[in-house]
Amino acid sequence: MKILITGGAGFIGSHLAEVLLHNNDEVFIIDDLSTGSIDNVIHLKDNPRFHYTIDTIKNQSVMAELVDQCDSIVHLAAAVGVKLIVESPVNTIETNIYGTEIVLQLANKKKKKVIIASTSEVYGKSETVPFQEDADMVLGPTTKSRWSYACSKAIDEFLALAYYKEKKLPVVIVRLFNTVGPRQTGRYGMVLPTFVQQALLGQQITVYGNGKQSRSFSFVKDVVRALIGLANHPDAVGQVFNIGNDKEITIEALARLIKKKTGSSSEIVYIPYDQAYEEGFEDMLRRVPDITKIRRLIGFEPRIEIEEIIDSVIDYYKSRT
Ligand code: UDP
Repeated sequence: MKILITGGAGFIGSHLAEVLLHNNDEVFIIDDLSTGSIDNVIHLKDNPRFHYTIDTIKNQSVMAELVDQCDSIVHLAAAVGVKLIVESPVNTIETNIYGTEIVLQLANKKKKKVIIASTSEVYGKSETVPFQEDADMVLGPTTKSRWSYACSKAIDEFLALAYYKEKKLPVVIVRLFNTVGPRQTGRYGMVLPTFVQQALLGQQITVYGNGKQSRSFSFVKDVVRALIGLANHPDAVGQVFNIGNDKEITIEALARLIKKKTGSSSEIVYIPYDQAYEEGFEDMLRRVPDITKIRRLIGFEPRIEIEEIIDSVIDYYKSRT
């Protein structure tokens, strides 16, 4: 198969490219390197089945050629990271909505299968955990830019489902829950690589809020396996799936665990949300996926748990210094 990965030099995209090449697929990536990095794919460049284009997915003619060459598309390119979103809401909305529109329009010409990466953020502030795919979205007001990410991704989902219903375009929507692992950068606010880097550098470990909020972290290789399983399953078409690990950890406990595992003397400090993000910032207390649906369809089970994930991220950052 020839597969196009948008955002292929990103954290998840580069791991996906690696596995697809290993499976003997031919991989085309497009990435504008806004949050991705050539470093993530440098080791793949000599593979004759790996092709990369450094450009934005908003470049229609480049995208048209790439989509034409491939059998299916995994659309991962997006503005991601809560910090980045709060700081550049215009880019978030435009990239996430316009980029997906282009992907779907082009894929529709020859009805190529599209896997659309969405996010657990679409569940918003809902307190009904674990989140099931057909649960209500509970979002805050438009004056709080955090919610622009959830809204833009929800529009992507609506549009993809509309293409499926109206034009019979084969689409699969996946909602990713706090994916972590080697190559993820802390630059855009993601908590786990941020804490690991702070701990390794002996800097303060910055817990936002009171640290009682929890997240369910899933290992990137588990996520890639789930993505490929859904992409290859004919019954996944036209549906939405959570991809994640349903074990929970509080951010405070995560900070302590990372401090312990790195043997760091870093102090754990608590920073109010207003100071960390923007005034009136709203966080969600818990975010746990219900993974019954993906488990039933492809037998997906997360294999790597938080301790091992942290070890792999520590190794990654140590190997880079
Ligand atoms: N967080 C934190 N310190 C940091 C970065 C993030 O305490 O340096 C918190 C953040 O407020 C949130 C959780 O960690 O409650 C997960 O944040 P992340 O941005 O990784 O993902 P989110 O689940 O918010 O999309």
